[in-house]
Amino acid sequence: MQGHEQVSGPAGLGTVSDARLSSVLQTAVDGIIVIDDVGTILVFNKACELMFGYKADEVVGRNVSMLMAPEHAEAHDGYIDHYKETGQKRIIGIGREVRARHRDGNFFFIDLSVGEAITPEGRQFVGILRDLTARKDTERRVNELQADLIRLARVSALDEMGSALAHELNQPLTAILLYLQAVGREFSKARENGGSDKSDERARTILDKARHEAQRAGQIIQRIRSLVEKRGPERKRVALNAIIDDAVDLTTLGQDRGVIVARDYHPELPEIEVDPVQIQQVVVNLVRNAYEAVKGCKGGRIDIGTRCEDRWVVLTISDNGPGIPADTLEDLFQAFKTGKRSGMGLGLAISRTIAQTHGGDLTVDPGGAGRGASFMVRLPLPSADTQEDVYVESPR
Ligand code: ADP
Repeated sequence: MQGHEQVSGPAGLGTVSDARLSSVLQTAVDGIIVIDDVGTILVFNKACELMFGYKADEVVGRNVSMLMAPEHAEAHDGYIDHYKETGQKRIIGIGREVRARHRDGNFFFIDLSVGEAITPEGRQFVGILRDLTARKDTERRVNELQADLIRLARVSALDEMGSALAHELNQPLTAILLYLQAVGREFSKARENGGSDKSDERARTILDKARHEAQRAGQIIQRIRSLVEKRGPERKRVALNAIIDDAVDLTTLGQDRGVIVARDYHPELPEIEVDPVQIQQVVVNLVRNAYEAVKGCKGGRIDIGTRCEDRWVVLTISDNGPGIPADTLEDLFQAFKTGKRSGMGLGLAISRTIAQTHGGDLTVDPGGAGRGASFMVRLPLPSADTQEDVYVESPR
């Protein structure tokens, strides 16, 4: 910027050397803020006025931290000092998503990139800001729709499993009925014979068995309920083996008992942070597919294992069926692609989406030529530093 004529710049800029600069600043779609090396606002353009609800003359001369959410505001002066002392850049030339504070006190997300300028008045920092509110709203809506779809797919899978589950529930209920009849008979016999410790003992044993069956029925219903319940996505620290086991138990109900289901869990798997119901949904999908694949094969076998690998927890579900047919493989994870006559083709698409929204992935070794398919779900271990410093340099 070379001084020719002195024009009145955007509020707060004082006099600047180029009228064109002023018009660029004021017509820019992005917000532009210039601060000096102690954080005092020098320039606040029109786009910023719209974004923050302040007029330029209300903010120029004040510290820029007034426009930041508390987590950034407190650190900001220290951050500038740190940079001046060490020259270490944490945001300059990088840019990132931060929370800003509107005049009305509400917070909103912006994309902020910062450049540095050495001027005759000293070191200045130029921030370019883009309002992310609309993008965030869209992202939230997409997430909501995705969660609805995932839940619908879960309910539809359970719907398909309905008759097997009903059959499975019928078993303990029938057993309870038979046990209760047997206790009744024991009581009548005891009354006829004047009662004895032995018949009391027999009645108690039968009642214990009935109670056990009632608990089994209750557990089945509980598992189904937790999968169909309408609830938003949530993240919890969980022991993966336990939630996998629960889902496997549910899926194997009413299935071909000739199929061996072998479980080989890492005994000391670290806890991970997931939505347990969604991860169970993945297990239900993969184990159901594996059953379908080995159906009718002699010596059908499904292997379910967990292990730790670098910063991942890995779940594998393999079978000894025919493997993935070549014509299915290409679009295997695409929605509505199915190799089955009655399939929806949603199971793998949704399972991969769930794995990926957890920061992991779902991959397949398709097998074939005498080998069955093997699916692998990778989920990240929680990182040590869960709360990242907002200004720490990170790839975007
Ligand atoms: P759906 O089961 O409704 O067809 P999926 O997305 O779960 O939908 O599966 C897509 C297709 O992938 C299946 O139709 C089947 O052809 C194939 N597939 C999935 N798992 C296996 C497996 N373990 N072995 C062989 N083929 C499989």
